[in-house]
Amino acid sequence: MDGSVDKAPLSRAERHPEKAHRPDNPIPRKPDWIRVRAPNSPEYAETKRLMRQHGLATVCEEAACPNIGECWKHKHATFMIMGDTCTRACAFCNVATGKPGALNPHEPANIAEAVGKLGLGHVVVTSVDRDDLEDGGAGHFAQVIEALHRMAPATTIEVLTPDFMKKPGAIETVVAARPDVFNHNLETVPRLYPTIRPGARYFTSLRLLWRVKEIDPAMFTKSGLMVGLGETREEILQVMDDLRAADVDFLTIGQYLQPTPKHAALDRFWTPAEFEALATHARAKGFLMVSASPLTRSSYHAGDDFARLRAARAAQLKT
Ligand code: SF4
Repeated sequence: MDGSVDKAPLSRAERHPEKAHRPDNPIPRKPDWIRVRAPNSPEYAETKRLMRQHGLATVCEEAACPNIGECWKHKHATFMIMGDTCTRACAFCNVATGKPGALNPHEPANIAEAVGKLGLGHVVVTSVDRDDLEDGGAGHFAQVIEALHRMAPATTIEVLTPDFMKKPGAIETVVAARPDVFNHNLETVPRLYPTIRPGARYFTSLRLLWRVKEIDPAMFTKSGLMVGLGETREEILQVMDDLRAADVDFLTIGQYLQPTPKHAALDRFWTPAEFEALATHARAKGFLMVSASPLTRSSYHAGDDFARLRAARAAQLKT
């Protein structure tokens, strides 16, 4: 273990200097169907202590995820590697933007050790964007996966990666390390990319998912969307078709929640019935697994969902 940190939380202006000049978008009151569990269980406190002790960052905290009370009660934390500072500035995201520091060479072992202590049967590892690195951080992802294979061999591994900015060989490096699930989120519909994901390109993200299946057709692929940013139902259905064309297995859809008044304005809350309808469409289009609800996030219930995903493929192969 190395690199223990316990930093004071950054102020809003420090986290998002690039958004400071933007006009305020008032945050609408959440509807009754969005209710979250307060983070106050002993397991929550224990998970937090372990993360600080190992000097690890989690997307649960950095993205201010509404599910943290529930997930951490079960010690399900999603690790965020390569620091807590992102080189991009997506309009929906609460992760801090800025110039990241050097990679911690001890991080892969620290994560594997923490996974053992948490007793995780399935782990999700994500990262900030590291466009400053020659390989976009792909090599570090591979080292984390390899450390997990070595030190926590019974744990299945899901990675949720950035697009690596099309850096040559990056996708191949991560696939070669053999995660069980390769997740990359499209996040929103192509029309909204210039405002919501200005540093990304829709077809680069889609191509990444396609490429994973080209390299290893047996690897599970997964992608996620947020709704509530102004997209239409028809646009979402088109994205589903694009993802199926890339042979993506698992689709997650959740409600966008505006982190601060400086973030992208919330357009509307989709109702639980609308999420159900989207899930029905997605299943009809052939995804092996679909999770669509207001509080669905990429890593929400990821372990249980992975077990279902494997079962769904096994059942499909039998028919
Ligand atoms: S849904 Fe994912 S990011 Fe949110 S608290 Fe749970 S594990 Fe963390």
